[in-house]
Amino acid sequence: MTPPLPVPPAPDAGAARRDELATGLAAVEERIASACRESGRDRAKLTLVVVTKTYPASDVGLLAGLGVTDVGEARHPEAGRKAEECAAAGLAQLSWHFVGAVQTNKAAAVASYASLVHSVDRRRLVRALDRGAERAERVLDCLVQVDLQPGSDQGAGARSGVAPTVASDLASAVATAAGLRLRGVMGMAPLDEDPAAAFARLAEVAEVVRADHPSAVVLSAGMSGDLEAAVAAGATHLRVGRAVLGERPPLR
Ligand SMILES: *Cc1c(COP(=O)(O)O)cnc(C)c1O
Repeated sequence: MTPPLPVPPAPDAGAARRDELATGLAAVEERIASACRESGRDRAKLTLVVVTKTYPASDVGLLAGLGVTDVGEARHPEAGRKAEECAAAGLAQLSWHFVGAVQTNKAAAVASYASLVHSVDRRRLVRALDRGAERAERVLDCLVQVDLQPGSDQGAGARSGVAPTVASDLASAVATAAGLRLRGVMGMAPLDEDPAAAFARLAEVAEVVRADHPSAVVLSAGMSGDLEAAVAAGATHLRVGRAVLGERPPLR
């Protein structure tokens, strides 16, 4: 009989994942630093939101240990559950950004834990978030999501966000809601277009909104594939998932 092989020490899965996340985060920080140099911008004026959707709360904990302060989630109840788990683990200082579509019937729950909702895209949602914020006895920061698909003003392909021409109206609805605070706009570059062109349109909308609402200074743009273009276009918030955490399994 062959003697049993010596059992190798169990690899510390937590430490390995921590190294993976540290490497991803460092690579993203390097890309941001280089984009800031190219466009003469100050890294300190940018908020990196690490989008942790589909990944476990343990990853959020590891990221917090690496200095991440802002995390992004796209779905409720996944987001609420993780925010609760992290708070219970003593990570009460994390800011939770809600970047995905909000169903009206989930709005009150989202309003109870989100620091900033990036994806306000209709009046019914404004009313639902406002009610939720009042019930939670807080004021909720919100961004109007702008649909950057070319042709969205003609009603074509309006998939997520409001058409650029009506962004101002929705922004005013947010600004007048007692429980909400308008902070700016968010957009995603269409996959089949140069992101620089799409973000330039978003920056124009942001300027129009800011003319009416001077405190709406947030420009949320840029993901793993196009954060450089977003920095060049004046983004204040980058929403980066895969480049930090790895490829996600496809969403249902
Ligand atoms: C998932 C998601 C992101 C992050 O995308 P990555 O390609 O993983 O960087 C950013 N914004 C929104 C709205 C998302 O849903």
